[in-house]
Amino acid sequence: MSVKEAFQRLRAGAPKFARTTAAERVAKLQALQKAVNDHLDEIDEAGMAEINMSGLGQLLPLKEEIAWACAHLEQWMKPGEAAAGPSGLMGRRGYVHHEPKGVVLHLATWNAPVLISLSPAVSMLAAGNTVMIKPSELAPRSAEIVKKIIEQAFAPDEVAVVLGGPEVAQEALALPFNHVCYVGGTRVGKIVMKAAADHFAPVTLELGGKNPVIVDKSADIEDAAKKITFGRSIMAGQVCLAPDYILVPHAQRDKLVDALAANFKAFYDPSGAGVKASADFSRIINPNHTKRIAGLIADAKAKGAKIAYGGDVDEGQRYIAPTILTDVTDEMDIAFEETFGPVLCVMGYDTREEAVAEVAKRPKPLGLYIFAADRDAIDFFLNNTRSGSAAINNNVTQANIPTLPFGGCNHSGIGRLGGHAGFLEFSNLRAVVEDPADPKQAPPAFYPPYPAEARMFLRAMLTS
Ligand code: NAD
Repeated sequence: MSVKEAFQRLRAGAPKFARTTAAERVAKLQALQKAVNDHLDEIDEAGMAEINMSGLGQLLPLKEEIAWACAHLEQWMKPGEAAAGPSGLMGRRGYVHHEPKGVVLHLATWNAPVLISLSPAVSMLAAGNTVMIKPSELAPRSAEIVKKIIEQAFAPDEVAVVLGGPEVAQEALALPFNHVCYVGGTRVGKIVMKAAADHFAPVTLELGGKNPVIVDKSADIEDAAKKITFGRSIMAGQVCLAPDYILVPHAQRDKLVDALAANFKAFYDPSGAGVKASADFSRIINPNHTKRIAGLIADAKAKGAKIAYGGDVDEGQRYIAPTILTDVTDEMDIAFEETFGPVLCVMGYDTREEAVAEVAKRPKPLGLYIFAADRDAIDFFLNNTRSGSAAINNNVTQANIPTLPFGGCNHSGIGRLGGHAGFLEFSNLRAVVEDPADPKQAPPAFYPPYPAEARMFLRAMLTS
């Protein structure tokens, strides 16, 4: 079936799906969970083949997202009563209808491909939309599984999966979807937003960027190092929320670098056989991304950065060693480009103001991390920076918590996913104002012609 035919089916099915009750949508989400569970072996293997990491790890947050939506959907769908008080509501009722937007397009990326293809779709469906999902062509085995899961759980006029690369995404973007969701990099994010503008389709953009870590002088360096090492090395750093660069007081820089290196070794090279031999260290998704990350390291090295740990690259094996760079300067590409690989840049600072000024040199990130024991320092860094989300004395942990809204700001994204925030994101909040049916009970109306005192009355109201 062509993309256009799939869209036409979804559009034809949208009014029926919009009328489904909370119980009916819950049953559909439960069918989705069952279909996922019926494909565990394949998901496990696809992850191993694609990035040398079991695909099962992505499924727990998906399960929680589905369970949370199922438990709260009835409440979320209820019309929200508006608080009385504004003059426009005197004697009237005001409420909000949560209506589906219609047909939603979801373009997903390749890291955690099952989770990223399906988790936003949970909110889209909970809100009563029909959905077209295009998984990433860079994780083709996972994409095929997503298609099988969807075809098991849904009718083609409810959810459709289309497979292919940018050309298929472009074909879909030319169609009049009622909302477009994209998860991926900023460059394509712009293309998606421009294409959506042709149809005045609102967008949800879940993008990336350079996530800073600010380590305060009061931080427990060993604890910070362990958590940052872990945050940067899960999926070999191919996580949108992974810490990208670290700002640490000059006096503690070497201690932190040593602790980071010791942790990389303890996690992935305890026997001394080398990280490459570790079954727990992932591979980069494809040769192009491997070359891109290797290029960032080479450029930094050529311009004077020091490799404090790692630095090995094996393009044939899509392997980039966990790497720590110091002496990074603004002339290096890695200072401003998202790494999306297992590389950490460690930079020194003297004052808190200097640290927040360094963060402000870059677009607002998706995540920002603060390691500190001193409450004043935590508050200072939190209040003087901006990011889509933040974690204190940890990193990456703020992802996939259905009770917290997830998203970026400006370059790192637009809109919010997850739980109630995701339900609202894909709903049209239709404001309804209702007068009593009996005109005698209705609030007074002020029809023309107006007496001379009308202006005086308005003035009195404005100045009272
Ligand atoms: P990508 O751009 O290669 O792929 C994402 C989707 O866009 C795919 O479906 C792909 O087919 C489509 N696409 C690619 N080129 C296109 C074009 N020209 N026109 C239309 N569609 C096109 O993904 P990527 O950039 O390699 O993904 C990595 C990025 O995703 C990183 O920046 C990462 O931070 C970000 N990311 C963000 C989140 C989040 O939730 N905020 C999650 C995961 C990844």
